[in-house]
Amino acid sequence: MEHGDKAVAQQRNLVLVGGGHTHALVLHHWARAPLPGVALSLLTPEPTAPYTGMLPGFIAGHYSRDALEIDLAHLCRRAGARLILGRAAGLDRAARAIQLADGTALGYDIASLDIGITSDLPQMPGYAEHAVSAKPLGTYAQRWEHWSKQVEAGATQPHIAVIGGGVAGVELALAMAHRLRGHDPEITVIDAGPLLPHLGARARGRLRLHLDRAGITCIEQTNPSGVTGSGLILADGREIPASLVLGAAGSRPQGWLGATGLHLSDGYVTVDPYLRSITDPAIFAVGDCAHMAHAPRAKAGVYAVRQAPFLLRNLRAALGAGDLRAYHPQRDYLKLVSLGGKSALADKWSLPLEGRWLWWLKDRIDARFMDQFRP
Ligand SMILES: Cc1cc2nc3c(=O)[nH]c(=O)nc-3n(C[C@H](O)[C@H](O)[C@H](O)COP(=O)(O)OP(=O)(O)OC[C@H]3O[C@@H](n4cnc5c(N)ncnc54)[C@H](O)[C@@H]3O)c2cc1C
Repeated sequence: MEHGDKAVAQQRNLVLVGGGHTHALVLHHWARAPLPGVALSLLTPEPTAPYTGMLPGFIAGHYSRDALEIDLAHLCRRAGARLILGRAAGLDRAARAIQLADGTALGYDIASLDIGITSDLPQMPGYAEHAVSAKPLGTYAQRWEHWSKQVEAGATQPHIAVIGGGVAGVELALAMAHRLRGHDPEITVIDAGPLLPHLGARARGRLRLHLDRAGITCIEQTNPSGVTGSGLILADGREIPASLVLGAAGSRPQGWLGATGLHLSDGYVTVDPYLRSITDPAIFAVGDCAHMAHAPRAKAGVYAVRQAPFLLRNLRAALGAGDLRAYHPQRDYLKLVSLGGKSALADKWSLPLEGRWLWWLKDRIDARFMDQFRP
């Protein structure tokens, strides 16, 4: 009994906040090698988390809604972790407690944040009432299912305005055009700057051609100024009629991070090469919500995925098992952009390639990623 009491006394709490890609992989690997004496918990608003890489394929009609859900509840069961349904809203670092949106608190010895970003544009008049954001994507996926059924039934005009002409906005516009083919959709992509600023010039040219072929209108160097029940208002006074306004522009960190006292870079948690907050070594941060001060990178799922083995190792080290290891992200990665139908474009080292085989490759990569999490 004495031995058991000692084990309980020594038990430490590791809390994963958010079921982003990195945490899903940590749970997956923890199941194989749990750390004795550590109680693992996952705090997540939903028991599943959607995989964004497959979102355009779902919107285009190639995948079912279920296919893009990572079953966090199952991963927790497998890892012997406690699943806590709730949303983090603050950190009391002195008391080592995570404050939840429902007013309760959750103690931790070590905590890790993987809560993503939001593409909400709360400052834009009418946005909250009439528009839907690509991220968090659960709401968009649901709204799309409902809206596209209405279009198919002839109850709604297939007019869409997409705010944001980055890769996500363009990929989603092409996916929506594909799904609505046969219904004469009118889709407009609006960007405050030039379209697709993060792609090579040749890939950008090819994608513009695809947008053109799909009949998608692009308006660049123009700010939207408000959303109404009938469309999008632009700063120059023009109105784009739309029964669906999709926000794919802003990538904003969650506001509550500002009150944690952690060092932030543009609102994202600044981390060291070990993925720990530079302010507090008991707090780790990964994925889109973190800023890697030693190697800043664009927000992309590929980094969230690659961070997973380093996070796992460093969490264990923080709990007294093994050494820390620094994460040095790759400079570039293969960007695979789906083109609506079962065809994709690849952009790496400014060399664009495209074809059905690239869609097949993307499909294989995504399927392999998701297969790890299946029961
Ligand atoms: C349309 C689209 C296509 C994309 N395609 C690609 C691609 O092909 N390749 C690529 O590399 N990247 C792509 N990205 C970017 C990629 O989706 C993100 O970089 C990736 O999802 C980041 O993962 P994450 O681990 O930061 O967490 P996320 O996947 O953003 O998940 C965060 C989780 O935290 C939970 N959460 C949120 N707030 C809280 C809270 N307060 N408390 C607790 N839990 C919370 C959420 O429910 C969510 O499950 C795409 C993005 C979009 C929008």
